[in-house]
Amino acid sequence: MFSRGWKICLCSLLFCSLSFAQSTILDSSYFQSPVKHKTVITGSFGELRTNHFHAGIDFRSSHGPKRDSLFASASGYVSRIKVQASSYGQSLYLDHDNGYTTVYAHLHEYAPKIEYHLKKKQYELEMSHLDYYLDSTKVYIEQGEFIGIMGNTGRSSGPHLHFEIRETASEIPVNPYLFNLKPEDHKKPLLKSLFIHTLDSTGHYIDRKYLGVKDKKGYKTSSSEIIEIDAEYIGVALATFDQMDGVNNLNGTYQMSMKQNGQQLFDFTLDKVSFDETRYINAAIDYPYKKTIGNSVIRLYKLPGNLLTNYTRNVSPGIIPLSHKIDTLDIILKDFEANEQAIKLFVKKAAKSDPETTRISNTLRYDSSYHLANGKLSIDIPAYSFDQDVQMKLYHNGLEKISIGDPLVPVYKYLNLAFVSEELSDKHFLGRKKSNGRITNYGGYVNNDTLKSQIRVLGDFSIYKDTEAPKIRKISMSKSSKTWSFALSDNYDASGVCPDIFVECRIDGQWIRHFYDKKNKKIIVKDINLIPENAQILSILLIDPLANRQVVRFNI
Ligand SMILES: [Zn+2]
Repeated sequence: MFSRGWKICLCSLLFCSLSFAQSTILDSSYFQSPVKHKTVITGSFGELRTNHFHAGIDFRSSHGPKRDSLFASASGYVSRIKVQASSYGQSLYLDHDNGYTTVYAHLHEYAPKIEYHLKKKQYELEMSHLDYYLDSTKVYIEQGEFIGIMGNTGRSSGPHLHFEIRETASEIPVNPYLFNLKPEDHKKPLLKSLFIHTLDSTGHYIDRKYLGVKDKKGYKTSSSEIIEIDAEYIGVALATFDQMDGVNNLNGTYQMSMKQNGQQLFDFTLDKVSFDETRYINAAIDYPYKKTIGNSVIRLYKLPGNLLTNYTRNVSPGIIPLSHKIDTLDIILKDFEANEQAIKLFVKKAAKSDPETTRISNTLRYDSSYHLANGKLSIDIPAYSFDQDVQMKLYHNGLEKISIGDPLVPVYKYLNLAFVSEELSDKHFLGRKKSNGRITNYGGYVNNDTLKSQIRVLGDFSIYKDTEAPKIRKISMSKSSKTWSFALSDNYDASGVCPDIFVECRIDGQWIRHFYDKKNKKIIVKDINLIPENAQILSILLIDPLANRQVVRFNI
C-alpha cells in the first residue's frame, strides 16, 4: 500500500513569534500564582492522559517532599471542599467575581479557617469523604491568603499542586496560560513519531503506516523521495511533546495545524476542554495504538463520531484527498509561546495501482442505537457510543467468559449489559483479570437471575463471586501522634464504575474522622488529640461493594 521512499523536512522557525498570531490573554493580572516559588510546570493543560485531557496545570513543589504553602490565586469565597479517596484527594474550590473558579487539588492540608468548616460538616454528617458546597457567606479568602499545603492525596504520584481555572457557570476548565499563569518557555515542541493513516471519504480509519523513528539527536530525515500511498484519502497522525525552560518533563503540545498546498486543512487548539467531551481523547488519539504499543499518537484529522469541539474546521478536518499530483503538507506544532516545530511532507497517490475503495463492511453505525443479544447475554448501545462504525460480536460460555466486542475499540457512552443465569447470586459481579492476576470489579448487581452492569470498555469479562469481607491491619497507633494508620486490603479491586470500600471509624461508639488513601491502601484516622484519656476501643467497620462486612476492634 505504501511506497518505501518518503521525504520529511524539519525546519525550526526561530523568528516565528512575530509573524504568527498568539493566543489572546483573557485577563493578565486577575490571577496570581498559587505558589511563592518560581513557577515550574510539570503537567500542562490538555496533556494526553488516560481517558481524559489534563484539566489543569501541575505546579512542581519547590523542595520535593517538604510540602509548600499554597495561596489564593485571586480573592473569592470557598464554594466547595471535596474529600475523595482517589481522584483529586483533598481539593478546594474558590469562586471569584470575574466568573471563574480556581481549583486546588491533592492538598495535604487545608488552612485552619477552611479546615474548621470542613471538620464541622464531617462530624455533623458523620462522613469523612464528602463533596461540600458552601455559600458565599461562609469563608472569604483574600488574594494571596494562605489556603493550605501542597500534597499528594488522591490519584497523584508525588507532591504537587493540580491547579485549574474553570468557568464558574459551565464548569468548563480553561487553559490557565490564557490568564498569563505560565512558565518560561523558549523550547519548541518535539516531534517523536509520525504516521500516515489511510481513510475513507468520511474519515473512517482503515490502516496506519509508520513514517519516522526518533533517534538520540532528534528526528531522522534521510530520503528525498515522495510518499506514494495506495489510497483515495489519508490523514496524518503524530506523537509530540512540548518542553519548557528548566525542566526535563515532556508536556503536551498546545496547538497543531496542517495545510495542504497552502490551504488550511486542520487546526486543533487546547484552550479549553469540557468534562463532557474529555473522553473523546480516545478518538483524538490512535486508541488501538495506545492500547497495544502504549504511546499517545494524536490524529491530525477528526473521526466521524468524535464530538470534541477543539477543532476549528467542522467539515472533514484533516481528511486529505490524494491525487496523482504531488501534494505538499505543512504541519505546524506550536506551544503557547508560539515556539514552532514545522514538518513538510510530499504525498501522492500511488501511480500504478487500484486504490482500495472499500473498507471492511462494518455492522454498527456510530450514530445509531442498537440492542444486541446472543442467548442469555444482551447489550444496549446508545447512539454515539463509538467514534466510527464498528463490528461487534457477543459471545458467552456460562459465567466463565462474557465476550463483548474488541478491546481496541474505545467507547464513549455507558453500554447496558445483561446476563441471565440461574447460577447467579447477589454476591456475583462482572470482573476482568489483569496481567498481574488481580481481578477488577466492573460492577453489576443481580436481580431475578439477571446480572446487570454498565460498561465503557469492550473485551472479555468473567462473572466472579465475592463472599469475603475486606481486611485491616494496624500500622501505627501512638497516642502522641496526630494520626493513626492502618493497611486495608480486599480480595478484589474496584474499577471506576464500582463503589469504593465503605469505611467507618468509631472510638467507644463515637464517630471519628478518617481519610482513605486509596492508592496506598491506607486508612488514616484523624483527630487523635480529640480522643478522651480513658477511651478503650477503636472499631473500624468495612463494607465491600458486594456488601461483605466486618467490624475490626483495636484496643487503645
Ligand atoms: Zn494535574
